[in-house]
Amino acid sequence: MTARLLDGNALAAQIRADIQPRVAAFTARHGRPPGLGIVLVGDNPASEIYVRNKLRAASEVGMRADLERLPATASIDDVLAAVAQLNASAVHDGLLVQDPLPDAMGRGAARKVFDAIDPSKDVDGFHPVNVGKLVQKRPTLVPGTPLGVIELLERSGIPIAGARAVVIGRSDIVGKPMAMLLMHRDATVTIAHSKTRDLPVLAATADILVAAIGRPGFVTPAFVKPGATVVDVGITSLSDGALVSQLFPAGHPRREAFARRGTIVVGDVHPDVVNVAGALTPVPGGVGPLTVAMLLSNTLKAAEMQADR
Ligand code: NAD
Repeated sequence: MTARLLDGNALAAQIRADIQPRVAAFTARHGRPPGLGIVLVGDNPASEIYVRNKLRAASEVGMRADLERLPATASIDDVLAAVAQLNASAVHDGLLVQDPLPDAMGRGAARKVFDAIDPSKDVDGFHPVNVGKLVQKRPTLVPGTPLGVIELLERSGIPIAGARAVVIGRSDIVGKPMAMLLMHRDATVTIAHSKTRDLPVLAATADILVAAIGRPGFVTPAFVKPGATVVDVGITSLSDGALVSQLFPAGHPRREAFARRGTIVVGDVHPDVVNVAGALTPVPGGVGPLTVAMLLSNTLKAAEMQADR
């Protein structure tokens, strides 16, 4: 069997096309477009790319998108001041602080910063008020990556209700909200993590297997029930040729891409899983584009919710 590849770029384009007329309607009604503010601290190369993609996507659907850039040497008070300014802004309906913050800011910094964001503008859905509402299945702003996975499954016609789902990874950003969203759509959900015993056996019970780990090629065919839907959330930039050769056989297009560029982005799912799964999200071009599309959807939702208050 060769898995059906779930094309995140095409689905994200559909979502943007759905959003665009609503952005235009909001703009006509309020005399300004929905606005997104992003705070970027330091010069993490991956964050630079993510932020650029978010700003471009927001502008493309007609939103206002502004970047507040702070140096790696910024203090946590500097970041909190930028957040306070966007919280008070009349033209920004949504704001986010790009994760991760520089290590020098200390371990609790991200939590302090996320807690300072006005929950009604929290388009990443990381504020504890929004997390609580999600757990209680109340309307709220939900993290874009797991929300994107749900959109991807639903728009691809993959049944969730009654399915057995296994989510590998228990982070606040992906694993936990992913499990909640699947449960709220009537899947029977197990959350697995680094201390889970007999993980391949557990994973192979899943009709829907979500990998959000950050370990290249971790999910091998032994983890996958034949015909299962496998969602690969992982994103790792590989520059180690030996690892690339382990994952991809000679002549594989990804290996050739690596030879040209010296680096490639890979997911948590081993390439051989394509021979076992029924449906599979590629990396790149799977979950990533959906994450950005759902950020736009959340920004529009935040704008509409605040305008209705
Ligand atoms: P994280 O490091 O916070 O969490 C990783 C999780 O994996 C942990 O809960 C841990 O228990 C689990 N884990 C680690 N080693 C394991 C093992 N050996 N066996 C079982 N479980 C194990 O990471 P995160 O923020 O949740 O991100 C996970 C991955 O998803 C990363 O690669 C990240 O880059 C990617 N990501 C992608 C998007 C996207 O848009 N596609 C968005 C966010 C994160």
